[in-house]
Amino acid sequence: MRPRQRRPVVVATRNRHKVAELGAILTAMDLVPLPESVALPPEEGETFAANALGKARAAHAATGRPAIADDSGIVAGALGGRPGIHSARYAGPDAGDAENLALLLERMRSAEDRSVAYVCAIAYVDAEGEIVREARCEGTLTEHPRGEGGFGYDPAFVPDDLEGGRTMAEIDAAEKHSISHRGRAARAIAAAIDESR
Ligand code: IMP
Repeated sequence: MRPRQRRPVVVATRNRHKVAELGAILTAMDLVPLPESVALPPEEGETFAANALGKARAAHAATGRPAIADDSGIVAGALGGRPGIHSARYAGPDAGDAENLALLLERMRSAEDRSVAYVCAIAYVDAEGEIVREARCEGTLTEHPRGEGGFGYDPAFVPDDLEGGRTMAEIDAAEKHSISHRGRAARAIAAAIDESR
């Protein structure tokens, strides 16, 4: 049997952490960056899936190539699911990771329920249609950040699936991908693409 060629797929994001994480997980695809000239739509959907689809559709329409996009965030039980789809801009439109994390820790300061989950939706759009998969990674929010790895809320996120109470910022990338929301959603969409294309 001839080996399948790695298919070129445009990644509809400007976030270099996501390109690196998706590239490490979706090894059967030849991920190519979104051309600078392509504008992504604002994330105005009400769900992770709607936002991921909007970006993948825009990248496919502009380039004519298969395109993949994700939308992700953290949901806190004690905050009724916030920050959710607003995770990237929780502390304001220009806020960085450190400010967003500081605000979440502040809002959760007196919360008894410290359960959180990362959620990731990944959308794939090509000439044959659209595929979306969503996955979660359950965990607990620490009171104080720990670790230098990862990004975003990782220094305060202790996943249920790890032993030793380590945060996502205290483990290596491969270990994170094996249990993370993005890793799970990426593996699910890769399997769905393989089955249907
Ligand atoms: P968006 O998907 O570009 O809207 O951004 C998602 C936001 O959720 C990121 O900016 C982070 O704040 C947070 N987030 C999503 N995935 C992760 C992760 O794997 N680790 C830490 N933070 C994450």
